[in-house]
Amino acid sequence: MEKLKPVKHAPVLIAGAGPVGLTLSALLSRCGVQNVIFEKNAELSQHPQAHFINCRTMEIFRHAYSPNLMRRITEIVPDQSCWRHFIYATSVLNGTEIGRVDNFPSSSTSRNTAAPPLAAHQVLDRHSPAKVIHLSQSRLMPLLFDEVLAEAGDTTRSRGGKGGHVVRFGHEVKDVREVVEGVQLLVEEKETCDMHVFQGHYVVAADGSSSVIRHKAQISMLGERGVQHLMNIHFSSRALAQATSHRPAMLYFIYNAEVVCVLVAHHYPSGEFVAQVPYFPPAQSPEDFGPVTVRALLDAAIGTAFTDLTVHSVRPWIMDCQVAQRYRSGRIFLAGDAAHRFPPAGGFGMNTGIQDAHNLSWKIASVLQNSANGALLDTYETERRPVAERNASLSMHNFSRSLRVPQALGLNVEQAKDAARISSRISNAMSKALLPYMFAVGRWPLKSLENVRHPYGEMCLAKARKILRDGASLPLLFPTDDIGFRYRPEFPRAQNAEESIHHGLGLDHLQVGGRLPHIWLQCLHPDTGESLGNISSTDLADQLQAAFLSSGIFDFTRSRPFAILLSSSAEEKITLSASQTVLKGWNMPLIGVKIIMRPEVSSHSSTTTFGEFGQEDQQALFRHLIKKGGCLTLNDIEGNWEQRIHSQASSILVRPDGHIQALLPSDKDLDIDF
Ligand SMILES: Cc1cc2nc3c(=O)[nH]c(=O)nc-3n(C[C@H](O)[C@H](O)[C@H](O)COP(=O)(O)OP(=O)(O)OC[C@H]3O[C@@H](n4cnc5c(N)ncnc54)[C@H](O)[C@@H]3O)c2cc1C
Repeated sequence: MEKLKPVKHAPVLIAGAGPVGLTLSALLSRCGVQNVIFEKNAELSQHPQAHFINCRTMEIFRHAYSPNLMRRITEIVPDQSCWRHFIYATSVLNGTEIGRVDNFPSSSTSRNTAAPPLAAHQVLDRHSPAKVIHLSQSRLMPLLFDEVLAEAGDTTRSRGGKGGHVVRFGHEVKDVREVVEGVQLLVEEKETCDMHVFQGHYVVAADGSSSVIRHKAQISMLGERGVQHLMNIHFSSRALAQATSHRPAMLYFIYNAEVVCVLVAHHYPSGEFVAQVPYFPPAQSPEDFGPVTVRALLDAAIGTAFTDLTVHSVRPWIMDCQVAQRYRSGRIFLAGDAAHRFPPAGGFGMNTGIQDAHNLSWKIASVLQNSANGALLDTYETERRPVAERNASLSMHNFSRSLRVPQALGLNVEQAKDAARISSRISNAMSKALLPYMFAVGRWPLKSLENVRHPYGEMCLAKARKILRDGASLPLLFPTDDIGFRYRPEFPRAQNAEESIHHGLGLDHLQVGGRLPHIWLQCLHPDTGESLGNISSTDLADQLQAAFLSSGIFDFTRSRPFAILLSSSAEEKITLSASQTVLKGWNMPLIGVKIIMRPEVSSHSSTTTFGEFGQEDQQALFRHLIKKGGCLTLNDIEGNWEQRIHSQASSILVRPDGHIQALLPSDKDLDIDF
């Protein structure tokens, strides 16, 4: 019998302990906002899905979390040499190599003469202190989980069990409803079947693509369903990992007469891989992928049968390209896959979700901690939804780019879909017998790839290789969409991935709504004048807050999001009053950062974050900051601020998430737009 327990309270209730729910929880706790996550499963998901973490997400990990997270990521992240390539071949081990894409080439491969002469990774290196990584979602999540517990001061370590007060495993959200004083979640404790009612100021649905909360809030998804149907086969084989040491890659695109699939090398040391094999309903269904079939497909893709190969799970997965019609319904917010689902080409799913959490956390904290105007919360949808729409269209474009090589090899996805539709019209038994032959015929041209002297095979290979050589296949890095997106209504949709990759040009351009560009600035010891290290301008807002919180000596911003005003004006003192006017509705504390040019200070090559300064240095800095009425001085050691930023605005007002709120040419001439 269900038992209904009395109402329990927490300011923010989060559904789902995926990467997005975990990130939101840690960031809220960091701002002092108490929250609870409900996760229906008994433990964190072990299934490796996402594996590419983009630059903006890495910036968030770098500056919004404690240095501990980055230290632990660095310890486990694989060396770039293992994952820099996408390999196209007839089998993983010894099949014909159709070609490969190096995602970190020494120079640009673009044919676009208007593009800068930098490769995409070089553009990112110039414009960000962070680096993209290849790290399996299932290995990242335990690290995020530990941060959730640390930020909330939860010492009960509830992973895989009960007892934690922040993450409630085995608790399934069944319903949501708004009440006069807040919003309530009806949650079932799965072990006991007890029903609990939790009440909060806000609910965030981070419960994934089939979100119950989105459904209950009657928010529909707009866009394309069923772009492709795939079986996700999670398996491991150390023997395979060792055998691929001569050609390691992040992705293997495999085309042969037995199987067409993408193999993701999630973790070489443990030999963990995922194969994504397309299937074609209605004639095919997940039930067709029994253990014998799966094993045969894997052996054909690998090119040999390894005895240590173990299949962990086989799951169907429908690739959609959809964005929720709304991100907010009253006190309910959607984030992550609950709000958007994209084709994985380009790796935007988890990254976009983590960035949703980053955007939403400081807004909720401002309303709850700073008594900011509640209208601030409306900007979550107006800012994040256009970004999701843009990433959705870019992911679709990437998906079609990923089909160029198989098309050149004679494969046709549309014909396969047609064959599946036609065969579903005949009797089930006949269709089951016929379809494998129809698909085998479709894959037959791939036989010719194994024979280099086959004229048809040679022609196909030549076409496919040209696509790869010209950089027209699926790329990995998208600087403009990764770090160049803006929170403005007129922010355009990406027309195509080529434009997106090579743009990179506008990344230094100061724009309201854009992320503050990255410039290394030298932090000087306030008493000795010695360099403490170089910190990135993009890290400033979050990092200052994090450092203040941990220092415990500076109460002004404690547990409250704050803005920063960076000024390089010639005035001796920077005026904070104009910015205070801008921030009035937000009721937000402000810290001033004065950028100076002091070339005589010896260059200090080490790059760091505030959180990594020694405790004594931090305290000296904060004492100085208090003495100066909330102003900090940083040295433009390389002259890049002067060269690239100063001419555009002498003062820049930056929000807690590092995006520009206003450009202030002078106190009298404010460029403010709310
Ligand atoms: C094959 C594949 C490859 C991908 N590659 C990438 C990539 O390289 N980079 C990238 O950025 N993204 C990638 N993605 C997308 C990425 O995996 C998702 O975007 C990401 O997992 C979304 O995170 P989330 O926290 O929003 O949702 P989820 O990870 O789905 O987590 C939701 C959580 O909510 C829980 N839950 C659900 N319902 C309830 C309920 N009623 N009550 C309580 N708990 C509930 C679930 O158990 C789950 O733990 C890939 C996806 C796939 C399928």
